[in-house]
Amino acid sequence: MATRKLFLLPGDGIGPETMAEVSKLIAVMNTEMDAGFETEVGLVGGAAYDAHGEAISDADMERALAADAVLFGAVGGPKWESVPYEQRPEAGLLRLRKEMELFANLRPAICYPALAESSSLKKEVIEGLDILIVRELTGGVYFGEPKEIVEIGNGQKRAVDTQVYDTFEIERIAGVAFELARTRRNKVCSMEKHNVMKSGVLWKEVVTATHEAKYADVELTHMLADAGGMQLVRWPKQFDVIVTDNLFGDMLSDVAAMLTGSLGMLPSASLGAPEASTGKRKALYEPVHGSAPDIAGQSIANPIAMIASFAMCLRYSFNMVAEAGRLEKAIAAVLEDGFRTRDLMSDGMREVSTSAMGDAVVQKFRELSA
Ligand code: NAD
Repeated sequence: MATRKLFLLPGDGIGPETMAEVSKLIAVMNTEMDAGFETEVGLVGGAAYDAHGEAISDADMERALAADAVLFGAVGGPKWESVPYEQRPEAGLLRLRKEMELFANLRPAICYPALAESSSLKKEVIEGLDILIVRELTGGVYFGEPKEIVEIGNGQKRAVDTQVYDTFEIERIAGVAFELARTRRNKVCSMEKHNVMKSGVLWKEVVTATHEAKYADVELTHMLADAGGMQLVRWPKQFDVIVTDNLFGDMLSDVAAMLTGSLGMLPSASLGAPEASTGKRKALYEPVHGSAPDIAGQSIANPIAMIASFAMCLRYSFNMVAEAGRLEKAIAAVLEDGFRTRDLMSDGMREVSTSAMGDAVVQKFRELSA
């Protein structure tokens, strides 16, 4: 059986604590399910800066490029606040995204039935929610040039950011969204602002053309991004896959995230283009949350976002769809049984540590796999 090469970058703060729970799963899958995972562990963020003076070493960057998938914990913390800008912990993540050419960011918003009460929205609005936001990650206004602040005389300055998209960038992100929709409920809603932005006009045009050319079997709708934000909190269950640009995706995915409760629950995936020879995509999986320095080292962090990121890795990098589904079921079942890390705690529930939560998920996963 082929080996599956995983590169683990636990990073800083709670990163190593939550990654340890994924390592337990990998060990169980290797010994009991013959999964054939081969893992290497590297340094990223502040941990890498302490060891090498940079946020990721060239050697670890090469390991990341050679792996089938990278699992990333979190980076940053007060200890590294004064390191030079180029070496700051986040530079490690940005270098990974850039060199692996990860242009598609996937953020699911799933509401586990056991947590439906803990959302700020009414239970009936979010119960059973399962949507996926596909955000373009390497283009748009965060990267467009010119990007500057210039003096324009009279004591005035002008700040410029440039929103720019080329056809191929829109085509490839639309392609990811349509393909993912086919594995789900077969619906894509594309969001932009063609009423006031030229980039929105091209976005809508290219998404429509891509749909007609290759994905006519998928249901496609368009929505202005501001209306989309409103609809996400009014009736999010109307959506299946949402595809949008870097800026709108940044905001809309945070809105969608909060539908489901704690930051400790949210996984994400970032994918590159399929390689011509193998069809494999470069991919990095990470929780949405940061390194949570306020709770690091106390064994109270919620490992579910990290574990659910590994479930995405099983599904999207290794086509282990059944295993991914069982792992997600195991998470839901453990929550149903009343296990809660502190961030999720409510009356009548059982507060557990990071490792006890991880153990409970591993145990359920084994039972479901038996
Ligand atoms: P954060 O996500 O680390 O924490 C925000 C709050 O949520 C904190 O109170 C934290 O305790 C809580 N929290 C986060 N994850 C949790 C979990 N798994 N279980 C329980 N509680 C959890 O964001 P922040 O405090 O703004 O940033 C802290 C550091 O992380 C900063 O250095 C920031 O730059 C960095 N950061 C890194 C990433 C990344 O690595 N991708 C993302 C965001 C922030």
